[in-house]
Amino acid sequence: MRDFALELEQRKQAGLYRTRRLISGPQQPSLVANGKSLLSFCSNDYLGLANHPANIDALHAALPDTGLGGAASHLICGHHDAHHQLEQRLEEFTGRSAALLFSTGYMANMGVISALAGRGDTIFSDRLNHASIIDGCILSRARVRRYAHGDVAALEAMLAETTGHKLVVTDGVFSMDGDVAPLAELARVCQAHDALLVVDDAHGLGVLGPQGRGSVAEMGLSEADVPVLIGTLGKAVGTSGAFVAGPALLMDYLVQKARTYIYTTAMPPALALATCASIDLIERDEVRREHVLGLVSRFRKEASAQGYALMHSHTPIQPIMIGDNHAALALSQALENRGLLVSAIRPPTVPVGEARLRVTFSAAHTQENLDCLLNALSECRHLVQNTEVAI
Ligand SMILES: *Cc1c(COP(=O)(O)O)cnc(C)c1O
Repeated sequence: MRDFALELEQRKQAGLYRTRRLISGPQQPSLVANGKSLLSFCSNDYLGLANHPANIDALHAALPDTGLGGAASHLICGHHDAHHQLEQRLEEFTGRSAALLFSTGYMANMGVISALAGRGDTIFSDRLNHASIIDGCILSRARVRRYAHGDVAALEAMLAETTGHKLVVTDGVFSMDGDVAPLAELARVCQAHDALLVVDDAHGLGVLGPQGRGSVAEMGLSEADVPVLIGTLGKAVGTSGAFVAGPALLMDYLVQKARTYIYTTAMPPALALATCASIDLIERDEVRREHVLGLVSRFRKEASAQGYALMHSHTPIQPIMIGDNHAALALSQALENRGLLVSAIRPPTVPVGEARLRVTFSAAHTQENLDCLLNALSECRHLVQNTEVAI
């Protein structure tokens, strides 16, 4: 048998061992983690909607009508009119012809990619794509070619030398770097080489673009440019679940073929209605987006003035590049000692030698919260050397 204990020990030695913190109470900037009050800068609740009273009220109001459980898969008897309402709301919100709900973003990527490409096909995947995309590629059994991060010229050269069905897949906003994919150029080369473009906008949806319609809308791209749009509902939307949106024919195809759609229980229908309420808020509440993006620009100015290495990101994902795993953990621990929760991200989530602190902002943070973070970072600056590395 494999020596599992030895492997765990080796992980600890390499600074790669992962532990969970026990959170109590709602998800918001002031968190109770392992019984200790901390100010959190690491959730994906970018708009502060995970604990918004209007969404909680919508959930309460829905429960007597829908009950609690999803009870069955969509194709058996789980497809509730609450799900149908949310799919229609998502079609409208994203400007797509049709939408299909999934239980999580992970399952959406696994299901969509493995349904739309198979043996004998080729998938082109950005090197920094999310783990769920990588796993979807493996599950598809298609040939997978990874291209350098954001390198459209490299992708185009690969597309030109490939025949057969081609699928290109990218994060819209990259989850660990916070930068946006070159979506307009990707759409152009995909059209030129008859490749199907899939964009996973897990981190752009709600935050970027007009009325929070996401990174694809920010670039002014339509369904013709980006035929397959994936979004998650557990991040800026503040609830749980995910969806894919695009042409009705493709959505119909996915209902037939996406195994992570077919063989899983539908999300609780009340949650679908709470998600509709959350999308209403996102659409009309420009102030939340302006506030979080204002925090981002102030953070960038002041943290880079302190000499920290930031990345090319205008989104609420603002990594501080460190490099070494142990150094990233040490900075995270020093911040925690000062009452701040900022998680260290290490390989394999990011490439080897690119450990970082992933700072994320939420509309629920105040300017005073940001003062606390900047003061603590200033006190801990001596813990980080060689910030010029790796970016
Ligand atoms: C978080 C994330 C997912 C997974 O979404 P879940 O709903 O949390 O399963 C998929 N893609 C990207 C880019 C993500 O960051």
